[in-house]
Amino acid sequence: MSRRQFKIYRCPECGRFSLSSSSRSAKCPYCGTAIHLTSSRIIARFQNAREASEYLKKLKSKSSGFKTF
Ligand SMILES: [Zn+2]
Repeated sequence: MSRRQFKIYRCPECGRFSLSSSSRSAKCPYCGTAIHLTSSRIIARFQNAREASEYLKKLKSKSSGFKTF
């Protein structure tokens, strides 16, 4: 079995956080930008999806008062 890694990254285009299990690139679910998952864009890595999504929730609630528009 291959070990999947879940990564939380920040979109350089819209600045939102998202989650991907892909190893090299991801597509932002908010603005559709293709993002290369370089280490500078990855905020955190997890071995399971549940932990990753909980962390993502925390990130989102923290940044809810922060708008880039
Ligand atoms: Zn985006």
